[in-house]
Amino acid sequence: MKKFDAAIAGGGVIGGAIALELARAGLRVAVFDRQKPGQEASWASAGILSPAPENPGMIATVELAKRSAALYPEFVARVEEISGQHTGYRRKGTMEAIFSREAQVELSTIIALHHGLGLKAEPLRAEDALELEPALSDEVEAAVLRPEEGSIDPRLLTAAVFAAAQRNGAEIFPASGVKGIWRDGSRCRGLLLEREHVEARWTVIAAGCFSGTIEGVAPYAPIKPVKGQMIALRADDLPIDRVLWSEKIYLVPRNDGRILAGATVEYVGFDKRVTAGGIEKILAATIELAPGLKDARIEETWAGLRPDSADHLPLLGPTDLEGLVMATGHFRSGILLTPVTARLVREWITEQKVSLDWERFSPLRFHSAEASATRRVEN
Ligand SMILES: Cc1cc2nc3c(=O)[nH]c(=O)nc-3n(C[C@H](O)[C@H](O)[C@H](O)COP(=O)(O)OP(=O)(O)OC[C@H]3O[C@@H](n4cnc5c(N)ncnc54)[C@H](O)[C@@H]3O)c2cc1C
Repeated sequence: MKKFDAAIAGGGVIGGAIALELARAGLRVAVFDRQKPGQEASWASAGILSPAPENPGMIATVELAKRSAALYPEFVARVEEISGQHTGYRRKGTMEAIFSREAQVELSTIIALHHGLGLKAEPLRAEDALELEPALSDEVEAAVLRPEEGSIDPRLLTAAVFAAAQRNGAEIFPASGVKGIWRDGSRCRGLLLEREHVEARWTVIAAGCFSGTIEGVAPYAPIKPVKGQMIALRADDLPIDRVLWSEKIYLVPRNDGRILAGATVEYVGFDKRVTAGGIEKILAATIELAPGLKDARIEETWAGLRPDSADHLPLLGPTDLEGLVMATGHFRSGILLTPVTARLVREWITEQKVSLDWERFSPLRFHSAEASATRRVEN
């Protein structure tokens, strides 16, 4: 029987980064993935690093997101140094273009909201926005510049994170699907694979939108997959430096010259098909935001599944089973939230305390709701 200090189910960027942190802290750690690590959401992602909330529901994650954004430069430097690989990190800012007739009102509302949350944001007049990003449509009325934000290439990042984790002694087991958690009374003793038990003092569930399909995990991780379709474009002589947003779309420039456009948000189960309707929607919004892209070549299309919870917030931290920790449900911000997730899980496992209040994200919030609903029915 394999025996570790920590066994991680799921080899996306979250599982890989936790393995790296724990291995650096001197623990014997292993990651089990049912396929090659890094082929799911972490592969499909746009990789925007923006703590700004997309909607009021996301305000609850801003503190966590700000902390992660602050950890990013150091995290990337460490991963790149240990792995010897690049991650495509770009800290060139993001720009949100406003097209509405009420642009000035919208602009001051967004700026006030950002400043109230302690986020750096600057208002731009249309001509200043166009000077910085000439590819923008000249219909733009105003824009918000968030100078400290940026992006990373999640495919490169995930590969580098796994290489770094292995260099620090973490063991990676591809083609090792986890069937369930190994429960022994009120304790989690490790993981159950198809043909073997893996014993571990600590068990971490980081299987993205598949977390709830692992036997015994569903009450702590009621996660739904949310499909996102993406397109990679290449345009000659149309420089885009920053991540650009409109209310319909984002465009993400990569270091290799590609421009990613995305993404749809579809609740259609575990379905990763690229559809005509999805592509039509992305392309129409892309050309509206940056008309020069109408001549761009389509280099790649794909879809991935984001891990979403009922309140769209992550599921982080210990459960009521001793030794079982959740690190999933990162929805649309898993790449941004990777460094802080890995840091907090490591702190919990090595010190049983964390440096940021993560109670709001407790995996027991749904578990307790479900349990009391059952009790009410029984009464
Ligand atoms: C189109 C799209 C765009 C996105 N854009 C952004 C963005 O701009 N910025 C941002 O921060 N986030 C973004 N995200 C979200 C981000 O990609 C995810 O939140 C993040 O990748 C989740 O990482 P993860 O490691 O939890 O999951 P995943 O990367 O999905 O990894 C889960 C792993 O678990 C494995 N697994 C599943 N079941 C089992 C099992 N039974 N046993 C063993 N292993 C198993 C899978 O094979 C997989 O490797 C985007 C996501 C999508 C799909």
